[in-house]
Amino acid sequence: MTHPPSGEPGSEGAEPASADELIEAWDEMRESAHLDPSAYDRLVLRCARELAADPGGPLAYRWTTGLVMGLGHLATGLSEGVAAEAAFDAARAVDAASRDLPCAHEEHPFQGDLAAESWSFAEVLRDLGGGEPVGWVVPLPREEWRCPRNVAGYARVVMESLRPGSAGDDVPPFLPFEDRYELETLDAIMEGYPLGRSFDVAFDLSLRASALNEAEGDDLAGHVFAATAVAWYVEVEADGTVDIQELLDGLTGAFERALGLLDRRACTHDTHPELPADCTQTLSIGMHLASARGRAAYERWPEEWAIPLDTALCPAFVAATAEDSLRRLRNTP
Ligand SMILES: [Zn+2]
Ligand SMILES: [Zn+2]
Repeated sequence: MTHPPSGEPGSEGAEPASADELIEAWDEMRESAHLDPSAYDRLVLRCARELAADPGGPLAYRWTTGLVMGLGHLATGLSEGVAAEAAFDAARAVDAASRDLPCAHEEHPFQGDLAAESWSFAEVLRDLGGGEPVGWVVPLPREEWRCPRNVAGYARVVMESLRPGSAGDDVPPFLPFEDRYELETLDAIMEGYPLGRSFDVAFDLSLRASALNEAEGDDLAGHVFAATAVAWYVEVEADGTVDIQELLDGLTGAFERALGLLDRRACTHDTHPELPADCTQTLSIGMHLASARGRAAYERWPEEWAIPLDTALCPAFVAATAEDSLRRLRNTP
């Protein structure tokens, strides 16, 4: 994959000094993930340094949240490995320092839906740091947010994201950040407003064919659905003016391989669900069902258009979906 040159003029500029500037910089890193890799690496390294020096300190909640806000960036492939290493080590130190401390809370914010809540982390941090009040609809659980066990929980989110399986059981499921990054890239293409990081739309779409080509086991269904969303999009958008033969061939080969892996006789259902007609919704279903962590998040925090997991994974349903996609691809100019 090609990437924009990092380190544009000015990116070596002044480091954020105040807490407000830091929080703003973290929020930009969370939202854009790919825009300024070297500056984002420096932000992550600074969080890691502060936490390594004082993993159980009074500001550990802030630096740890900064690391969580950097996970999207660390998943882009644009980061130097040293930032992820330092982030993991710091998160492990935070977890070790605070995970077993006593507290009286029944639950903590880290247990929530990360995808739905991380957009507000900057406001949360400003509020916790005594910044401008932001007018919460429900009162922010400040004590629970600052609680060392909550900080340890978010540290485990960092660990689990960087090294799946490293954080033990007490970490909520979330869509892997690599998949979130690709979901956002493809979603923007399908909505008609490709992100600045999409240099070659056909290439970005073809990543789903490559992924389907390597998928197996319980992950296969999700990869079929995500590639199906791409096939739908291509069917509508292809007008013969852009050469997409390579993309069509890649998708076709991947669906044919998937069909060879699916045993329809395993089906025990009277009916099967229908994928949403909206290709971005079907894409999201596919990206979630393509990994164990994604499936767990999908079940715990279902979208209103989600389809039931048990029938969605049925080989007969997945095979029928792949066949329908193949038919569409063969009729695409
Ligand atoms: Zn607590
Ligand atoms: Zn079935």
